Amino acid sequence: MKRSSERNRITQGRQHFQGLIVNMNFDELLRTPHKRFNPLLREWVLVSPQRNDRPWLGKVEKVQSPSASAFDPSCYLCPGNKRAGKKLTPQYKKTYTFDNDYPALLSGTAALQFDEAGLLVGQAEPGVCRVMCFSPRHDLTIPRMSLQELRGVIDGWVEQYSSLAQMSWIRHVQIFENRGELMGASNPHPHCQIWANASLPNLPAREWGSLRGYQEEKHSCLLCDYLKLELQLNARVVCQNDAFAAVVPFWAVWPFESLVLSKRHLGSLEQLSGKERDLLGDILRRITVRYDNLFETAFPYSMGFHQRPTGCGACEEWHLHAHYFPPLLRSATIQKFMVGYELLGSPQRDLTPERAALLLIEAGETHYLDRAPEKDGS
Ligand SMILES: [Zn+2]
Ligand SMILES: [Zn+2]
Ligand SMILES: [Zn+2]
Repeated sequence: MKRSSERNRITQGRQHFQGLIVNMNFDELLRTPHKRFNPLLREWVLVSPQRNDRPWLGKVEKVQSPSASAFDPSCYLCPGNKRAGKKLTPQYKKTYTFDNDYPALLSGTAALQFDEAGLLVGQAEPGVCRVMCFSPRHDLTIPRMSLQELRGVIDGWVEQYSSLAQMSWIRHVQIFENRGELMGASNPHPHCQIWANASLPNLPAREWGSLRGYQEEKHSCLLCDYLKLELQLNARVVCQNDAFAAVVPFWAVWPFESLVLSKRHLGSLEQLSGKERDLLGDILRRITVRYDNLFETAFPYSMGFHQRPTGCGACEEWHLHAHYFPPLLRSATIQKFMVGYELLGSPQRDLTPERAALLLIEAGETHYLDRAPEKDGS
């Protein structure tokens, strides 16, 4: 029942063909204003390729990365510096995780609810908020880390997910990184946040519903099937290794949005083998180097993992993945805004996901700061 109503909803968009559903090929799709379906969130994104027929005229300004030093005496995440409430960040050597000094959620919150006629509804939400510094170095971002250093970060994520999952009341662990002032990062010291709470947040809940629905209908995994198709078509795959692939999803909303998918069907970081943890570090470094190279800047983004809910048994239908949502559009200084039609109707993009993937492929995997300087006159 649920699936057929879903199909009805999908076909509603075809009503203007008055019953005639005309198939088009991919080249025709790329020449036509169209909408694409996101099967994870079950929503649409408008794509207007005709508006992108103009050449790449956007002003491409190079913004030099701030020459951050390895230690900043005023940074509360640098080793040995003071934090809020007279706390001290210790002399850490690898990664360092601590409870957020200004947590959005509190673990001691009691189970209370508010309900006024079913219209004004609120629930107390207990949770834990932590901060994890990737490295003692103030200037060492993910794309500039060695594979060994990245392995340390991934081991830290696994440790956090596993220990939080052991708390019986925790249902979901969200690991995410806000990089750059544009994304509201409050401190440039490379770090991520870990929020764990008692209920499933909106987006993972919707994705889980889609993964379960697909499993029930097709007896297969939505993201395994999607990845297989992307690898076959090879139109949006940016890079891959033996365990992971980074693709610009067919339904991407942000100009250079990407989705990192595990090739093996697994639900959480803790199920990765040692080799796969190394390969996760490899793919994260490669996609972020490409991002930095795109406009030769420290590319801002919000990224995070979607993992199976904790305390739900096996949750076999869940498929581990990471989303990157970067806001930049045409240069280091031109960003995409979600305004107007996007706030009121649906998200929209001009640059096609295929073109975005191509630009990321062309961006290469040698970090622009590591390239040999060009000689004058040569
Ligand atoms: Zn710092
Ligand atoms: Zn899968
Ligand atoms: Zn997701």
